[in-house]
Amino acid sequence: MERRHVSVSGVVQGVGFRPFVYRLAHDLNVAGWVANSPQGAIIEIEAPPLRLDTFITRLQDELPRHAAIQHLDCHDVSPLGESTFEIRQSSHEGAKSALILPDLATCPDCLREIHDPADRHYHYPFTNCTHCGPRFSIIHALPYDRANTTMSGFTMCARCRAEYEDPLNRRFHAQPTACPHCGPQVRLSGRSGKTLSIRWEALLEAAAAIRQGQIIALKGLGGYQLLADARNPEAIRLLRQRKGRYEKPFALMFPTPTQIASACTVNDAEWGLLESAAAPIVLLPYQDGAEIAPQVAPDNPYLGVMLPYTPLHHLLLEELGFPIVVTSGNVSDEPIVIDDNEALAKLSAIADLFLTHNRPIARPLDDSVAFVFEHEPVLLRRARGYVPTPIHINAVVDDIIAVGAQQKNTVAVAHDDNIFLSQHLGDVENLAANENFKRTLVDFQTLYELRPSTIACDLHPDYASTHYAEESGLKIVKVQHHYAHVLSCMAERQLDAPVLGVAWDGTGYGSDGTIWGGEFLQITEQGFTRAASLCPFRLPGGDLAAREPRRSALGLLYALYGENLPCDRLDFTEPELRLLLRALKQGINAPLTSSVGRLFDAVAALVGLRQRCSFEGQAAMALEYAQRRVKTDEWYPFEITSVTGDDRSCRRMIEWKPMIAALLDEHDPAVTSAKFHNTLAAIIVAVAEQVGEPVVALSGGCFQNRTLLDRAIKQLRRAGFRPYWQQQIPSNDGGIALGQIMAATRGMSDVSGSSGQSDQH
Ligand code: ZN
Ligand code: ZN
Ligand code: FE
Repeated sequence: MERRHVSVSGVVQGVGFRPFVYRLAHDLNVAGWVANSPQGAIIEIEAPPLRLDTFITRLQDELPRHAAIQHLDCHDVSPLGESTFEIRQSSHEGAKSALILPDLATCPDCLREIHDPADRHYHYPFTNCTHCGPRFSIIHALPYDRANTTMSGFTMCARCRAEYEDPLNRRFHAQPTACPHCGPQVRLSGRSGKTLSIRWEALLEAAAAIRQGQIIALKGLGGYQLLADARNPEAIRLLRQRKGRYEKPFALMFPTPTQIASACTVNDAEWGLLESAAAPIVLLPYQDGAEIAPQVAPDNPYLGVMLPYTPLHHLLLEELGFPIVVTSGNVSDEPIVIDDNEALAKLSAIADLFLTHNRPIARPLDDSVAFVFEHEPVLLRRARGYVPTPIHINAVVDDIIAVGAQQKNTVAVAHDDNIFLSQHLGDVENLAANENFKRTLVDFQTLYELRPSTIACDLHPDYASTHYAEESGLKIVKVQHHYAHVLSCMAERQLDAPVLGVAWDGTGYGSDGTIWGGEFLQITEQGFTRAASLCPFRLPGGDLAAREPRRSALGLLYALYGENLPCDRLDFTEPELRLLLRALKQGINAPLTSSVGRLFDAVAALVGLRQRCSFEGQAAMALEYAQRRVKTDEWYPFEITSVTGDDRSCRRMIEWKPMIAALLDEHDPAVTSAKFHNTLAAIIVAVAEQVGEPVVALSGGCFQNRTLLDRAIKQLRRAGFRPYWQQQIPSNDGGIALGQIMAATRGMSDVSGSSGQSDQH
């Protein structure tokens, strides 16, 4: 007989790992025990050596579906002569590093039970097991035990307890397990909070209200959601008006995959994503003739679509039988509401009724958003279903926190060889969002009991996140925005320097104090050099340009033609024009930018698609969608000039003037758009050829544009390069915190690039 002590780290809690170990031990007639620990799980096994080896092999080969082992440590200890195998109490000792699982969509077994009139979980909206159910949205602390979740206030009934304690049951140690007798219950209330009905009756009445065109606030998994009949134009119009969200597309939830298939074109990879345990919103091409109100996603060829992912959503959608709009329950840019009283206070002006329940939500988690590109998911918003799965890196680093950027913000913490990127937090400028930002930073540090000494932030002096970092008292590392974008891509795709990074977005503070956004960064072992950039142009009115593409267009035309610019394509009054031209001439409140995002805006305005935007990215999206039916390989002329002289802080400039001059002669917006996209791809290849780095990493919000991404990737491959893009981590500013951590771990005293310029040429 020999005995071994095995410690396992990774995703081994809340996934049925211990019952799996228990069954395996019984199968092989191995004695010992298994227990959860704050680091993962500990196993002691005693048997003849050969059987112990088999145990270790099968342990790794036959893992439960959602489990993953990061490290397995095994050493010999003295045999104790045990003859049985048992599951022991969790140990609470040592540093916390066990991985917390994201929330998991309802599994087929639980789904069958809620539909089976003979089952005790029939019609029960909080049914779950070790294969599915809430995780991150209910956990307060590690280890993952019921007492550390928002289920701590519910005492299990005898039957639930029996399942919970039976190692062979699929609810063995399923921490949120519950049934109609002992678990949370739904309740329907009006705007005053007064109860109208409870349980199944509440669900039926909520469904009836939706059918009649009313708007329901539903307490979902990671926060309140607003629901309305997606087929009913009047209901959608009402929701838009009450939410003050006039044009931005809404996401939909469909009762069944069959109904999705009749509204959208879906490929295998997209089905895989829709039906995955993460169950995100997936952007799918819309089929004409589907019975969705046009107000759901105006002028948009895609629909954001998801399937029900909790029993509550399943039961409600089945009762309805038609798709509904499901949008975050929040006001303007505030975080999604999780508190019941706050929901009544803030959402009463929007929702007619509240379908709520008494299981608290630990933290706000929005629905994630993704599309499929080359058979792989590309996440645009990473939250429910994905967070807090870490990004694993090939190095052990000190505890570091990163505070991200400003819009679409996320924060991150690094611990050992894992980086935990928070859920989407939104724009941290407003007060409520800023509070949520701070809470989330504390939340992630508390969960893993981190004591960071370093904090990484953006170089931008005015970001709320930068201010927070400056006031933290920790050692601060300021990271140039586009450098962080590229490092984010390199981290998730495990790329080592040297790499040519293409970071294209709307706005980022440059090392020289101007607004960057059309950057080619040559990433070295230590830092970066600015290999190329778009020629800068002025934005009359500064930040206002992000909302008004016509301003970017005016800035371009001014750079091209001076004061006598042709402005017949732009929608300005005489006085407006006079004012803005003066600003441009004097360079007052007209900052320089090299932003490709603003270039997109400008072109959208010049071809007559959008003069103003009601949401971020609207003009660029309109421009992308305009070229959908055009097939052309043509592009517009451009020039790349080498910068010479002493001050070579940027090596090459991309001159866009020939392109703009040529596209002003074009008459069809669709053709202009197609050729514009082709030109941008051609620019990327041309710069890559001059730089000569074989690996090219694409990041920044502009690469959310599938047409640009597709053309850039294809053209780069054709020219012999190996292009990479972001998949699990958003290419927008939601990925910045990850890049900031990577910059801080690179151990540079100055990662701003302002003086570094560690040029090897
Ligand atoms: Zn289940
Ligand atoms: Zn029960
Ligand atoms: Fe950015």
